[in-house]
Amino acid sequence: MAPKWLPSVNRLLRGIDILNLKSKLPRVGTTIFTTMSALAAEHDALNLSQGFPDFDAPKALRESVAKHVMDGHNQYAPMTGMPTLREKIALQLHQYRGISCNPDTEITVVPGATEGIFCAIAACINPGDEVIVFDPCYDSYEPSITLAGGITVHLPLSQGNFSIDWERVNSAITARSRMIIINSPHNPSGSTLPLEDLHELERLAEKHNLLVISDEVYEHLVYDGAEHNSVLQLPGLRARSFAIFSFGKTYSVTGWKTGYCVAPPALTAELRKVHQFVTFVAVTPIQLALAEFMKNEPDYPGTLAAFYQAKRDLFCKALENSRFKITASAGTYFQLLDYSAISTEADSKLARDWTCEHKLASIPISVFYEHPPKQTYLRFCFAKNDDVLLQAAAILCKI
Ligand code: PMP
Ligand code: GLN
Repeated sequence: MAPKWLPSVNRLLRGIDILNLKSKLPRVGTTIFTTMSALAAEHDALNLSQGFPDFDAPKALRESVAKHVMDGHNQYAPMTGMPTLREKIALQLHQYRGISCNPDTEITVVPGATEGIFCAIAACINPGDEVIVFDPCYDSYEPSITLAGGITVHLPLSQGNFSIDWERVNSAITARSRMIIINSPHNPSGSTLPLEDLHELERLAEKHNLLVISDEVYEHLVYDGAEHNSVLQLPGLRARSFAIFSFGKTYSVTGWKTGYCVAPPALTAELRKVHQFVTFVAVTPIQLALAEFMKNEPDYPGTLAAFYQAKRDLFCKALENSRFKITASAGTYFQLLDYSAISTEADSKLARDWTCEHKLASIPISVFYEHPPKQTYLRFCFAKNDDVLLQAAAILCKI
């Protein structure tokens, strides 16, 4: 029997026909994060798929939002972000990265890193411009490039250690190349970009006059005593980069969709031209609460590495007797598990099957590739309470 919704879908499709709609993103469907979280909910499965903490943000931060709402801070913020928050961001960049930034001309508060990335691309990419991205690549980059009329040039990260092959980057650069997008710590692999790689990027970007978007949303989630390397710390890159950050990751508030972009004044000015007509502003009481929390707890981001490393280690140790091959993540709150000793199935099928059969949801990583290589990884988010991580590991040990 035809499902109940079929007639309305048919009507909709006829509507598209009649209206002569031509999709600007014909190959784009619902994101894997939405799909897997919905499947997890449907099957009552543990959800280690979409990246978000299952624990709450600091109480003081949540109370501060409530207070600012009740105190009447409920109207538009300035387009560039609340001055007090931009000041605190500048202080934090100095504290953690040792750099000075002008909060008025170089920092823009945005409603989520995704919006910041979109605006940076929309502001700088013209039809026909080529943008180099590295696969597996975060899913919002390509649609943003496509909507700007740009061409996405996918280069694979090396298999195994997910590093950048700079020879390959060099040979992919053409007269139409305009931008390179990097992401470190890297989602979904959990790898981080060594400082030498940033120097290599600086050399190439300067030589070919390329712009850079550096997606650093997991900047504080770097493990085993390593430091995060930011494009903002290299003068040649700082002069041509949009560095993108997300409060969602740092303060466990992904649902607040608030982040910021740091870029030199000329790039910031162009980004703001787009931002003011995409969303105009980020949410006022949330900005005020973040500013208050950052003032009172400036050392909070520095506690995150140890906190998440303990979770990574708990999860990996609990999997010691499983059949998965594991290389502990260097950063992010994601852990890849190599299932090659267990199955030859495609990762997308396995992620679905295991959600339904074993009640554990993960993310297949082939979806982040233009040409998925033969590899057998699933991504698990370890930003979860310890009992959930142990339950998940117990399920995985039985597979
Ligand atoms: N970039 C990467 C690599 C991410 O993992 C995310 C996560 N959600 C984002 C950007 C978007 O962050 P936001 O939720 O602040 O838009
Ligand atoms: N960045 C999150 C992840 O990698 C998901 C964000 C989203 O659902 N759009 O899981």
